[in-house]
Amino acid sequence: MNIADYKGVWVFAEQRDGKIQKVALELLGKGRDIADKLGVELTALLLGENTDSMAKDLASHGADKVLVVDNPLLKNYTTDGYTKVICDLVRERKPEILFIGASYIGRDLGPRVAARLETGLTADCTALDIDKENNNLLMTRPAFGGNLMATIVCGDHRPQMATVRPGVFEKLPEDEDSKCKIEKATVQLEESHIRTKVEEVVKLAKETVDIGEAQIIVSGGRGVGAGENFKLLKELADALGGEVGGSRAAVESGWVDKAVQVGQTGKTVRPKVYIACGISGAIQHLAGMQDSDFIIAINKDGDAPIMKVADIGIVGDLNKVIPEMIAKAKEI
Ligand code: FAD
Repeated sequence: MNIADYKGVWVFAEQRDGKIQKVALELLGKGRDIADKLGVELTALLLGENTDSMAKDLASHGADKVLVVDNPLLKNYTTDGYTKVICDLVRERKPEILFIGASYIGRDLGPRVAARLETGLTADCTALDIDKENNNLLMTRPAFGGNLMATIVCGDHRPQMATVRPGVFEKLPEDEDSKCKIEKATVQLEESHIRTKVEEVVKLAKETVDIGEAQIIVSGGRGVGAGENFKLLKELADALGGEVGGSRAAVESGWVDKAVQVGQTGKTVRPKVYIACGISGAIQHLAGMQDSDFIIAINKDGDAPIMKVADIGIVGDLNKVIPEMIAKAKEI
């Protein structure tokens, strides 16, 4: 393999139901920075059916080019179909970097593509940069149970591949005057290449809250004491127009849904305000919320680690502090 043959940064633009997923736009934001540091082109790779409006959407979010493969067989995600198309395009066009969102789809797709291309993959990255001396991609992810952050380089294989957690990077503001090109590519894909068939897409009956989108999060931990006490946190969240989240301890106690777990094995969030109630601030929890704009911690223990990242630390019993906050919030 001649590494010098590989040029450019690609972002897999995940779509579902004809809608580009937020993590793809976040990756284009970071991809722009990486491509500028390397002085190369940034490409958004879009696979699907009836892709025109999605391609236009992508074109205004930082890419130099949107590379589209439009095929009815790509309407729904299948491991076989998407892996084949991406691998064929990578072999033909040789990008030096390929980013994929660490969504359920990305976590399935990334390893398959990496294995077929005989390259490495750093999964679940929380930071990306370029080593300026030799232009290698630096991929950072939690290691050893989140107790340290490991920075990984890909060595002598290309492309350098990373899956990246949703919510870690920010998308760029929409650029209406973007000069981004849209190019349609054709890749040979037949039904026989795909061993599974999507019969039906069933939507979740229950609407789950996406705390990744919330501007205000009132999050509870073991210190909340019982599932029913989360009503208090919900009341505060409602009064502030926010959503309720939880630590892993709260999830494992069955007090809140896994979908709202914040942290290394939950969601990464960066709301305007994060209110941590009865959460100690273990490193795995901090990994998911420490980039919030403003952090308020309510804890009986003034020395709890959460206090080190808090903009305001309230030392006290949450059962007394939260009702006072609700009363104040209702006055506003
Ligand atoms: P605790 O650490 O028990 O803290 C409870 C806090 O509540 C204490 O600080 C206490 O002083 C305070 N308190 C008690 N009563 C009150 C009261 N009445 N009023 C005010 N304060 C009170 N954790 C996550 O959160 N998210 C993750 O994604 C995650 N991933 C993990 C991945 C791995 C591989 C591992 C090993 C661990 C992970 N954890 C994660 C678990 C993490 O290490 C901690 O165990 C967990 O975050 C602790 O949750 P907690 O802060 O709610 O509970």
